[in-house]
Amino acid sequence: MKMDWSSELNNSICTVSQLRKYADLSHDVERKLYEIIKRHPMCVTPYYMSLIDWDNPSDPIKKMAIPSLTEFNLEGSYDTSGEAENTKMPGLQHKYEQTALILSTNKCATYCRYCFRKRLVGLPSKEVIKRFEDAAEYIKQHEEINNVLISGGDPLVLSNEIIESFLAVLSDISHLKFIRFGSRTPVVLPSRFEDDALLDILRRYSYSDRRIYVVTQFNYPREISKESVKAINNLISAGIILTNQTVLLKGINDYPRTLAKLQNKLVSIGVNPYYVFQCRPVKRVKSAFQVPLCKGIEIVETAKKSCNGHSKRFKYIMSHRTGKIEILGIRHDDIYFKYHQAKDIKNLGRIFKRRVDKKAGWLDDFKKR
Ligand code: SF4
Repeated sequence: MKMDWSSELNNSICTVSQLRKYADLSHDVERKLYEIIKRHPMCVTPYYMSLIDWDNPSDPIKKMAIPSLTEFNLEGSYDTSGEAENTKMPGLQHKYEQTALILSTNKCATYCRYCFRKRLVGLPSKEVIKRFEDAAEYIKQHEEINNVLISGGDPLVLSNEIIESFLAVLSDISHLKFIRFGSRTPVVLPSRFEDDALLDILRRYSYSDRRIYVVTQFNYPREISKESVKAINNLISAGIILTNQTVLLKGINDYPRTLAKLQNKLVSIGVNPYYVFQCRPVKRVKSAFQVPLCKGIEIVETAKKSCNGHSKRFKYIMSHRTGKIEILGIRHDDIYFKYHQAKDIKNLGRIFKRRVDKKAGWLDDFKKR
């Protein structure tokens, strides 16, 4: 029998013993996975579990959702984009003049092993919003803010009542021109969008002159299934604009053909490619998932050759402490970057370069010239 979204969430695979039903695990591996899960919880929806090809030991969906022993590698940091220094109150960040970011929850439908907010997802956290009204008051006082990104965790796993209360409060702020939900729910829990009550709420608050956007995160072509396409269709029918951020991930989409196929498929289902993000040097993530920048440029540029104008509109971006930095390309011995968004407004649009370093995966890895 088909489950509704909340029963599906309740039936998620969250323990090593549940995982045993899907994979052969030695006693030693089980013990180590148990240790990892204690530190960073596992939770995979039955739907997302069903996309895994268990006969393939390097299956990309498996790599994204199931913990591995690489998580014992502590290289990196838990706050790679300076989120702490941009926090104005628990759960509210204001880094770029026009955008406020709200951490609405620490929960997600599936905990992605490469998550850059690994420090908080599925864990008790003081970083999540306490009183949404206080965040709204801050936004009201800052008329330069014209959009809000509701993130987390994944805001669309919250109840309809909570989602509606967020939208009702934000709707009263006239200088807000659009509201975004950052969510992987269409990818990992598409049944969420069979909930007519949720679709009604989104439809009611997505006005013709102040749309709601859902920023999805499809990373691999197999994630575009008949179920996720239906979720996207339902969102489009509710007047929602869909954009997508893909994270460039080692062993998942770091092949030009895979990346091109993904972006082309997204356009065909009505989801606009927005960013391809460089994977951040996050503790327990970096060694398993980050692709060096020089290789990333090669992958992105080769992929673009198989994309049409729409599917290659994305920017290849590093979300750095100092801003969103576009990775432009390599010329001779130099790699070129440009500030697409900047914490310090003086940097906006600035182009700069670093000497090529084939191993560098992040701006701070390069030596300054
Ligand atoms: S859904 Fe988003 S916030 Fe949640 S674990 Fe995945 S990447 Fe992180």
